[in-house]
Amino acid sequence: MLRNIRGARQMATDHIIVNTRLCQACWECVSVCSMGVIGKINYPFHKHIRIVNASNCVGCLACVRKCTEGAIMSRKEVTVRR
Ligand code: SF4
Ligand code: SF4
Repeated sequence: MLRNIRGARQMATDHIIVNTRLCQACWECVSVCSMGVIGKINYPFHKHIRIVNASNCVGCLACVRKCTEGAIMSRKEVTVRR
């Protein structure tokens, strides 16, 4: 069961959950994901990542390790934290 983050706009794959409110649009996770799972919303005053190919996610968690903002979490981690 996933923890509900009040007011957060969440996106997910089978392995990760994204809280777009925490995203600072550094695009580090976009670069590190070799599977093309993560894309960008990149308007002048509206920027954050988005999941564009959820089914490609292999759960390597490289994006989780790369994000210093805590905007991407492992589903396992979220379950443990409940
Ligand atoms: S690494 Fe984190 S802060 Fe940077 S774009 Fe990805 S989710 Fe956003
Ligand atoms: S867990 Fe791995 S494959 Fe899935 S989005 Fe993150 S970097 Fe890409």
